[in-house]
Amino acid sequence: MNHDINIKKVRINCFRQSKVKGEFMLQMRVPGALINAKHLSMVQEICERWGNGTFHMGTRQTLDIPGIKYENIEEVNKFIKGYIQDVDVEMCNVDMDVNDGGYPTIGARNVMSCIGNAHCIKGNANTYELARKIERIVFPSHYHIKVAVAGCPNDCVKANFNDFGIMGVNKQVYDVDRCIGCGCCVEACQHHATGVLSLNANNKVDKDTCCCVGCGECSLICPTGAWSRGTKQLYRVTLGGRTGKQNPRAGKLFMNWVTEDVILAMFGNWQKFSAWVLDYKPEYLHGGHLIDRAGYKEFKKRILEGVELNPEAKVADDIFWAENEQRGNMHVMPVSQHKTAGPQN
Ligand code: SF4
Ligand code: SF4
Ligand code: SF4
Repeated sequence: MNHDINIKKVRINCFRQSKVKGEFMLQMRVPGALINAKHLSMVQEICERWGNGTFHMGTRQTLDIPGIKYENIEEVNKFIKGYIQDVDVEMCNVDMDVNDGGYPTIGARNVMSCIGNAHCIKGNANTYELARKIERIVFPSHYHIKVAVAGCPNDCVKANFNDFGIMGVNKQVYDVDRCIGCGCCVEACQHHATGVLSLNANNKVDKDTCCCVGCGECSLICPTGAWSRGTKQLYRVTLGGRTGKQNPRAGKLFMNWVTEDVILAMFGNWQKFSAWVLDYKPEYLHGGHLIDRAGYKEFKKRILEGVELNPEAKVADDIFWAENEQRGNMHVMPVSQHKTAGPQN
């Protein structure tokens, strides 16, 4: 069958073009990666009615359904209306009209998260709740942004490779009177974290506070409750991480010990910042490149405009990224070979 295929339009609806002509893969958003299991039967139905009978777990935690024919996209869009209503409008409070037919934009990517403290014993934060709050702020938007939320600095969700990586942390509280000097926390911090604890001459614990990442391994292991997690939920935020063929890089620490309010207020400035960098003409450009284009200092000024920092908060004065690792093949190819003409093995 011949089609006048409007790739751009269906792409905005979150349908990705297939190598098989006329076929597309639907990517359904799952902000925070946690939904009611009842939706799975709907996914199965789409796969079997309109797809090729297979299902792919999206790398950004989307529900991916390949093999959908172009002529069926409109019908599929109608079918997923209830899902978008349940997940984005009701679960995340996103302000959008589900009657427009399918997803309105692909710009802001699915907000990912690990299972967090709803299940994981190491989790400091409820990741999917925060992811849903972020979804409400960044979606729908044509501006590209990738965000992931980890429950602790273990970062199982690879938040470090997102434009914004959020990780739950906690200031641990030490009750010296409860400490029996067993050394378990020292060993745990050494083995699982940063090795900032040591036993002193009195058989009590000393801590190099500047390098503590607030993961809570010490509190988790302590048999007497001498270490406990602080009551204030805090986060660290890494910035400018990305994958991609050119200049992939891990994010750098942007803010530490900030509250949820700070994070949400910061995301509230993202669309304004993006519009400004792009001269108010939406253009497809990855979020990280917008930060690069503005430069860190300008980015920081604009993204934190009007944001009230909590007293514990720390923000990076400057950030320097290494941009040339992939481009220059610097670790695997001597510079002297870089200008050699012709194909290289
Ligand atoms: S990042 Fe932390 S909280 Fe999340 S799954 Fe991994 S260990 Fe658990
Ligand atoms: S694990 Fe608890 S009791 Fe043991 S040394 Fe550490 S703080 Fe003290
Ligand atoms: S919270 Fe700090 S002291 Fe405790 S294990 Fe983690 S890095 Fe070590």
